[in-house]
Amino acid sequence: MNRLFADLPLTIFDLMSGLARDTGAINLGQGFPEDDGPLQLREAAARALVEQSNQYPPMMGLAALREAVAEHYRRLQGLDLDWKSEVMVTSGATEALAASILAVVEPGDEVVLVEPMYDAYKPLVERAGGVPKFVRLEAPEWRIPESALNAAFSAKTKAIVINSPNNPSSSLIEREDLEKIARACIARDAIAICDEVWEHVVFDGKQHEPLIALPEMRERTIKIGSAGKMFSMTGWKVGFVCAAPKILQVVAKAHQFLTFTTPPNLQAAAAFGLAKPESFFQAMRDDLQRSRDRLAAGLTQEGFVVTPSAGTYFLSIDLARSGISLPDREFSLRAVKEHGVASIPLSAFYAAPPSQQLVRLCFAKRDDTLDRGIERLAKARRAFN
Ligand code: PMP
Repeated sequence: MNRLFADLPLTIFDLMSGLARDTGAINLGQGFPEDDGPLQLREAAARALVEQSNQYPPMMGLAALREAVAEHYRRLQGLDLDWKSEVMVTSGATEALAASILAVVEPGDEVVLVEPMYDAYKPLVERAGGVPKFVRLEAPEWRIPESALNAAFSAKTKAIVINSPNNPSSSLIEREDLEKIARACIARDAIAICDEVWEHVVFDGKQHEPLIALPEMRERTIKIGSAGKMFSMTGWKVGFVCAAPKILQVVAKAHQFLTFTTPPNLQAAAAFGLAKPESFFQAMRDDLQRSRDRLAAGLTQEGFVVTPSAGTYFLSIDLARSGISLPDREFSLRAVKEHGVASIPLSAFYAAPPSQQLVRLCFAKRDDTLDRGIERLAKARRAFN
């Protein structure tokens, strides 16, 4: 068997969710909302399933969805995308990432990855024959030092993968850092693969800034989105890739042999959802921000130090600053087994162990789940102190 996949351990998400199921723990680990998502969208998907075609939709995606994606990004992010040549639908952002990386990376190419990084990037780059080069960021600012970025780029750099808002750090890449990335890509003629699945989950009135909008980045950026994240229905594997025609044509060729297409009823419902007014997305953000604040306040009251969360479903506990001297993985394993609360250690998002010990918690949960989670974490903290 292929060694890269054969040697991959069970993902930390499966491990922790499995332990949570086995022990009946409160699961603040894996990032999915406890509620079922907007009823109007589920009804739109149900209607489309019954009333519309269930045969292969076009390989690039339903025209209605591709048009809706271009229009949505025009309205909310000021982008001017041609849906026919610059927008493709994929089976979730995961497939979009795989298709993009396979389309861009050749054996021996270097790919810059920014730690902490979403767990799919490194294996996908390596399976494509790429050589990852890491830039490591530190909590709580998570800023990108230009010197580290320039050191990671070389004449062999084919691409950089960035993720903002970031899972797991919950930070946004600021404009100044986006400009550093743009400068590095332009200098080395590299492509930026931008995982923007959390683009609508941004708090405190901040705005997501897509790298593709920066000068000279339009022709070298692949922007990836996810309806599952936009509409809080993570089981909906409907993703989007936006890129200049010359890039998208090749990504489409990788996509044709990965999944070829995506269930048409979910595409139709995603198109319906993308046309919702800004207030629809704002209401979702407000709800999540309230949950973020509830979890942060409860944990702070119990003596935890949490890192700020500017976006995503997550915030992190800083173990050392919370008076806990356990490594993050041990904390997560003991918290789920001994105290009935699941979390995700941030070390799972690094190629080599980080110096900071942080544990990620998902706040996209009902109030009583969050409150019980806080109670159990507080007990764990007292036991581990
Ligand atoms: N990228 C990031 C940063 C994510 O957090 C996730 C989902 N956890 C994905 C990609 C995958 O998105 P999808 O479910 O649309 O495949």
